[in-house]
Amino acid sequence: MPQISFATNNRQFHVEVNDRVKQYFKDNHMSQRGNSKLFFKAFFMYAVVFSLYYTLVFVQPSSIALNFLLLAMFGTFLAFIGFNIMHDSCHGAFSDNSKVNDFFGYSLNFLGAESYFWRTKHNVLHHTYTNVDGVDDDIFKPPFLRMSPNQPYNKLHKYQRNYMLFLYGVSTLFWVFFMDFTKYFTNKVYTTDLPKRTFKTHFTFIATKLFYVGFYIAFPIYMLGFGKFIVGYLFYNFIMGIVLSVVFQLAHVVEGAIYADAQATGVLAIDEDWAIYQMKTTFDFCPNNKFITWAVGGLNFQVEHHLFPKVSHVHYPAIRKIVREVAAKHGVVHNEFNSFAEAVNSHFNMMHKLGQSPLVAA
Ligand SMILES: [Zn+2]
Repeated sequence: MPQISFATNNRQFHVEVNDRVKQYFKDNHMSQRGNSKLFFKAFFMYAVVFSLYYTLVFVQPSSIALNFLLLAMFGTFLAFIGFNIMHDSCHGAFSDNSKVNDFFGYSLNFLGAESYFWRTKHNVLHHTYTNVDGVDDDIFKPPFLRMSPNQPYNKLHKYQRNYMLFLYGVSTLFWVFFMDFTKYFTNKVYTTDLPKRTFKTHFTFIATKLFYVGFYIAFPIYMLGFGKFIVGYLFYNFIMGIVLSVVFQLAHVVEGAIYADAQATGVLAIDEDWAIYQMKTTFDFCPNNKFITWAVGGLNFQVEHHLFPKVSHVHYPAIRKIVREVAAKHGVVHNEFNSFAEAVNSHFNMMHKLGQSPLVAA
């Protein structure tokens, strides 16, 4: 893994925002982790997923349109489990009880992917070294997608704006069947070594993949026949892949976000305090849209999430006000898009720009 450091001067914003958020929880006698509303939401989302599975696999409605509607909901709610339950839990933000976090962290294994790998990929690499080429695996999708101006250019990228949604759509299948196995056999996430494997981590990986094949593939084939199964399976995975990828990418691969490159030299000294660097790589979107906030598990408050990843997303709307106040005081820009459409548009524009020329800068 490249050696990366952040500047330690100019920490006033970092220190004050931390103090103010700590004080907010103290004043309100609240835990920084999830609350009963989050437990209810988790229960509701799992209930919807199991009800949809039961209806599709056991009831088998005869209407084709209804089947596709239910499949679209199934894919969307699986993504919602990822945003709301898995993401908070893997950050240790779902509950004050670490065992509860560990348990709900297996929500990612329920979706078919290994949470043990994801914790390193996301909590350590993506959160610490956001948009740093050579470390942040979230922006490393060669050769088809160029997600940063530092990455090598090829002629395909000119069209990436047109085909990126298709790749997003197949990303969950790619993850479950290819990327996880690559990590398992190389014991690496991108350029970073994973901790030494234990019996437990081998066991959960194999159990996760066996569960996935049984629950999502073998049993539905047995109940529905292969033809019906494969159409439904590809369709809901496509929806799930698009929902997951688009929401995660809106925070960092948009016009105005900055990038850094540790790939070329293997050593990088970032000339910013870590918190200020986070403010420059990360965007919020539609902070006043209550439904989006509920559905995407606060991932529309990515600035607050990146500054306070161990705080549950249920607190982000309140924390955003504090972050904006402190940022304004220190002359730091708090990036955000007012609407979901504006953020999606900016992501598409950014991918278009990155695909047009090897020389383009963010
Ligand atoms: Zn996160």
